[in-house]
This record gives sequence, C-alpha cells and structure tokens, in this order.
Amino acid sequence: MKNMNDIQQNLKNVRGKIEKACVRNKEIIRDVNEVKLIAVSKKQPIDRVQAMLDCGQRLFGENRVQDAVKTWGSLERDFGGNLKAQYNDLELHLIGPLQTNKVQDAVQLFDVIQTVDRPKLVYALADEMKKQNKNLSCFIQVNTGEEEQKSGILPQELTEFLKLCREVELKIIGLMCIPPVAEPSALHFAFLKKLADEHGLKELSMGMSDDFDKAIPLGASYIRVGTALFGRREVLKT
Ligand SMILES: *Cc1c(COP(=O)(O)O)cnc(C)c1O
Repeated sequence: MKNMNDIQQNLKNVRGKIEKACVRNKEIIRDVNEVKLIAVSKKQPIDRVQAMLDCGQRLFGENRVQDAVKTWGSLERDFGGNLKAQYNDLELHLIGPLQTNKVQDAVQLFDVIQTVDRPKLVYALADEMKKQNKNLSCFIQVNTGEEEQKSGILPQELTEFLKLCREVELKIIGLMCIPPVAEPSALHFAFLKKLADEHGLKELSMGMSDDFDKAIPLGASYIRVGTALFGRREVLKT
C-alpha cells in the first residue's frame, strides 16, 4: 500500500519535528503531549484520509463545511454509521470560515469550531447548539495582521467579543490565527500567545506545515498541518 507507507513516513517526520521543537539547548521547553497535531485533510482524496486514520491519527481539520460533509459522510457510510466507534477519539475541527447558513451542518459534523469571528456567527452557533443539545468547544479567530481580506476579530475587539461569547455561553477554549504571508509568523504567534494569556484562554491553534516548528516554542497547543502530512493537495476538487 503506497498511501499507507508514505503517510506513515510523513507522520513520523512531522512527529520528529514536533519533538525537536519541544527542546532547546537540550532542555525541554514544551511537553510534547501538550502539542496536538491536527491533520488538515481538506482537498485530499479519501483513500489518503483513510490511510491517515489507519496510521493512528485521530485529529483532523477541514476548512469547508461542504467538503467535510462529503469526505466524512462517505467514511461514515463506509463504516455503517459507526465511524467514531471504529476510530475512538476521532475529532474533527473546522478551521475555515463558517457561513451562518452552514451552521446546522457544521454543528452536526464537527467537534470543534476554530473560526468564530463575528457576533452574527456567535448567536447562530449558540442557537444551533441549543437545538442540537451540543456544546462544542470553540476558538476565536484573531486577525493578528489586521488584514482587510482576512477573517477574524481585530485584536482590539477581542475583550468585547469574548464577553459576548460568554453571555450566550459559547464555550471558548482558545485563540486561532493565520499570520500574513509576507510577515515573520513568529511575531504573530507571540502576539496571539500574549492575547490568550491576557484573556485567561488556554488553547492556541497556530502553525502550519511551514512554521509549526516556530509556533511550538511560542505556545501552540494545536498545530494545523496539511501538506507536510498528506503531500500536495488536489487542484481539481473544489
Ligand atoms: C490549509 C490550512 C492549513 C494547512 O496548511 P499546510 O500549509 O498545508 O500545512 C492550516 N490552517 C488553515 C486555516 C488552513 O486553511
């Protein structure tokens, strides 16, 4: 099985890199168990996702609700509706923008929403979770680079936004960011860590294939890795 072999190797390489990032000058600076690896399976063929599951990976990230419903719905059918019984501790994170008309599907499918980024979505999520009798953990996405085109709460809006989330009892466990491509990501990781500390939030979702080794010493508790685990994404699947 080609898929199985190279995925196993990629997983090993990434895990090795995580372990290395937890150590500086022979001293342990992070507990490796506190750094959780999210395999970003967006736009990957289903057999590679299956191979990743078979290699023991249990945390996955998807950036589009419809794509995720397709991939994970299909796997669910393969296992006769018992995917989570088959793969204990399977956890799906939404890491892309969430439209309010997709909230119902998102709350049904995902275990964690990492991209809470505006009041309208806060209300929609709170309502839907009540309806479905669920209480998903959520992250607030922060637009640390204050980029026009990027979603996320501006840093200066965070205090007020968090207050709103708490009023409607949305379970916010941490912060997430996607740094601007043209800037050193470490600055943004350090900034996100500072914001989380100031607001008493424990979890930090930061770092992707190219920079997770920088995010770990700066406090990342969830890293989101796609390419380095699965290889390049398919271009055709939308
Ligand atoms: C695609 C994606 C990733 C993974 O990116 P890679 O560079 O392939 O590791 C991480 N986070 C988000 C929000 C993404 O959309």
